[in-house]
Amino acid sequence: MNDHEQLIEKSKKHLWLPFTQMKDYERDPLIIESGEGVTLKDTEGKVYYDGFSSVWLNVHGHRKKELDDAVRSQLDKIAHSTLLGMTNVPATELAEQLVNLTPTGLDRVFYSDSGATSVEIALKMAFQYWRNIGKTSKQKFITMNNGYHGDTVGAVSVGDIDIFHKVYKPLMFDSYKTPYPYIYRHPSGNADVCRDECLNKLQLLLEERHNEIAALILEPMMQGAGGMINMPKGFLSGVERLCKSYDVLLITDEVATGFGRTGEMFACNHEGVVPDIMTAGKGLTGGYLPIAITMTSEKIYEAFYDDYTKMKAFFHGHSYTGNQLGCAVALANLKLFEHENIVGNVKKKSADVHQIFEEFHELKHVGDIRQVGLMTGIELVKDKQTKEPFQWEKRIGYNVTLKMRELGMLTRPLGDVIVFMPPLASTNDDLQAMMSIMKEAIYTITEGS
Ligand code: PLP
Repeated sequence: MNDHEQLIEKSKKHLWLPFTQMKDYERDPLIIESGEGVTLKDTEGKVYYDGFSSVWLNVHGHRKKELDDAVRSQLDKIAHSTLLGMTNVPATELAEQLVNLTPTGLDRVFYSDSGATSVEIALKMAFQYWRNIGKTSKQKFITMNNGYHGDTVGAVSVGDIDIFHKVYKPLMFDSYKTPYPYIYRHPSGNADVCRDECLNKLQLLLEERHNEIAALILEPMMQGAGGMINMPKGFLSGVERLCKSYDVLLITDEVATGFGRTGEMFACNHEGVVPDIMTAGKGLTGGYLPIAITMTSEKIYEAFYDDYTKMKAFFHGHSYTGNQLGCAVALANLKLFEHENIVGNVKKKSADVHQIFEEFHELKHVGDIRQVGLMTGIELVKDKQTKEPFQWEKRIGYNVTLKMRELGMLTRPLGDVIVFMPPLASTNDDLQAMMSIMKEAIYTITEGS
């Protein structure tokens, strides 16, 4: 056996991969050995476009010199020390920059190590905020139908994707679900009608329950894991308005949408929304290291600030909270965002991508293409006229992505929605090459035979 074969054997024997039916992995194993720019190379030397930014993380491509150097130079000082009761240099510098970068009014940064943990923190903060100010009836959360906020039990409790979440129902706390404006599947097919209907239903829920509700959580502008579903214009600001008028905290989960992905630094900026609490992660370190953040307004922070004996402190933390290597690379990442005008370029590139996607409509099974910035989902359907889905057991989306892999590009489907989330620094040539692979794979699997 050569090295590649030995690694495959070891992976099959010892590994258990996330969000993976291991029987599928055994049939089509893949081991990445290295990366360069927007590509990844496997242990047989085959090169692939990283069409999903290694699960929505990567910004500047792999092995970006400035980011590599930031990790190396931080290593010469220290790799990690705790943030419990003390801080460190890059975590402190980064906090100041994040406060300046995020919507005005988010003035405090709480670090963690994944999107899910940043959400757990947001939920616990919102819950304890109301207790600390004496409004103990406000204990529940509102979440959107089809929402996704990570895989820890709290995050799952405010999630609503049956295939991921249903089995854990007995473990979850109850939260109220409110309709998400899924325009393509709304009977009217009209963005304004769909938005207004969803806002009205939310208002009814708030009218009836606001005394019990601590916070509402949503993914701003685009639901990610639920199938890349974009919000109609005015929905996000409408939700903010309702939350304010019913005295319910607004948590925006920018784990997928934050750091330039949607063509604004944060998706909330599209509608000038300022949440009470915001979570982010993924692109914060350019896709290098696991750092996430929960940011809050000073109003939230102050409710926890008192003499120790008042027992108002936030008793939550993780071993690697505020890790120096991660914060150092995040600082270098933010510098690159500015020097390379990443957000401005995403705006331009996404217009070009939008134009190329127009040609995808000629494919017989492309039902809907939903794009915000460089975040796109292509919903494949059996019948374009009736919008009838394929039988889920046929695994059309999965088979399309396997075909894409054969053609030299990696991504993961969400059911029959094909995800296109290239590194933000992809050139127009990269984007065109990736999209022609997508088109060929969709055609071959859905029409080819
Ligand atoms: N929230 C949103 C909106 C996400 O899209 C994700 C992951 O895709 C998460 C939370 C969870 O992040 P992580 O996988 O880093 O725990």
